[in-house]
Amino acid sequence: MMETKKSPEPTTGVTSVSPDKIEPMTKTGSLLVVTGPSGVGKGTIVGAVLDEVDQLAKSVSVTTRPRRSIEVEGEHYFFRSEEEFFAMQKRGDFLEYAEFAGNYYGTPSHWVSEHLEKGIDVILEIEVQGAMQVREKCKDAILIFISPPSFEDLASRLRSRGTETEEKIAERLKKAKGEMQQRHLFNYEVINDNLKEAVRNLTAIVYAERLRI
Ligand code: ADP
Ligand code: 5GP
Repeated sequence: MMETKKSPEPTTGVTSVSPDKIEPMTKTGSLLVVTGPSGVGKGTIVGAVLDEVDQLAKSVSVTTRPRRSIEVEGEHYFFRSEEEFFAMQKRGDFLEYAEFAGNYYGTPSHWVSEHLEKGIDVILEIEVQGAMQVREKCKDAILIFISPPSFEDLASRLRSRGTETEEKIAERLKKAKGEMQQRHLFNYEVINDNLKEAVRNLTAIVYAERLRI
């Protein structure tokens, strides 16, 4: 009997998968880094976005800065001495850390990775040097720069917040000039002129990133 050779399947370059074999992809959360000069409105915008969007959490940083009267331990920051802060830094507890206007600030890495693994999006609200460290370490991080409509607006917001002395405000404004020059290194820029619009734009970024394949 003559052996019949089976002709090979035509190749289309597309692997066909029967529909019942398509598994939903389990996605880890996105790491969203929100930065910009002090007083630009990061905290205000992020707070409003957290109220609107589910499955989104903000990391609470560790700082050596003295607590402001309205701030709550574990909610706004974990307030620690410099000694405690550097013990954590030596243990490798921080995803990033930086000195800012005479105080240290750091993001606890364990909390961030735990939430991302659960599929929860995580927002870091941090200053520019820290954002640059995350940019190097986490290639998938989404970097968002919040800009003021003008330098004058930034100065008046810092003053109207009333949380810093005039000397500290001057220090933060001086730093802001250098920080503004780094904005081209980010994925998105949100100008915080009209607060509602800025909140809508940051919310849109969070949702758009969820649609990525
Ligand atoms: P950051 O967290 O960047 O330091 P804050 O969120 O504390 O800034 O905002 C600084 C001040 O500016 C606050 O008093 C806040 O109410 C005010 N602010 C925030 N966004 C706007 C805006 N779009 N227009 C006017 N004032 C604003
Ligand atoms: P503030 O003293 O006004 O709370 O914060 C000063 C600056 O430090 C702000 O720009 C704030 O976003 C930033 N910051 C807060 N937490 C962290 C952190 O964990 N790491 C870094 N790099 N910056 C932080």
